[in-house]
Amino acid sequence: MTFIDEEFGEVVVRKSALSRRFSFSVAPSGGLRISAPCGVSERSILRALNAARREINTKLGITSESEMKKRQRADKIELLQSKARRILPERLQELARLGDFKYEKVRFSHSSSRWGSCSGKGTISLNIALMQLPPVLIDYVLIHELAHTRQMNHSAVFWKEVERCDKNYKRHRKMLKLHSPHV
Ligand SMILES: [Zn+2]
Repeated sequence: MTFIDEEFGEVVVRKSALSRRFSFSVAPSGGLRISAPCGVSERSILRALNAARREINTKLGITSESEMKKRQRADKIELLQSKARRILPERLQELARLGDFKYEKVRFSHSSSRWGSCSGKGTISLNIALMQLPPVLIDYVLIHELAHTRQMNHSAVFWKEVERCDKNYKRHRKMLKLHSPHV
């Protein structure tokens, strides 16, 4: 049974032998779904709906808010990803050329707590959250990862490699700590 409610729009009623009482949820169509016990009358469904209006409003409000946040995050990830793909490979190549570094390939991530990483095989992973940083800090991260293609550690020799391409790396490193790689 489906009907239109003034407040909630389309209401879909599902009767089920398993339902012992009324419960309310969001239907896939976005309207309201009422699960009702078998054999209840239309009138008692309406009565249950009227009695639960406030509860339903709270529930729908919370659901649509978390849905919205999820959707906003997905949109943001998509945007950062396309920006990252457009800008970072080219910049990495340029910095590698300037610093005489060699890397195998570049890939992107977004679910990590790190800005970037470099594998032993020379694959550089870059967090798309980099696109939220000022260019000078993006460069610092790229140089940092490129330096790992020579030194897979954070030894003094490694920092010398970084310094060769970024004289102000100490300041940039500190500034970077003020940002979060979380998208
Ligand atoms: Zn490192």
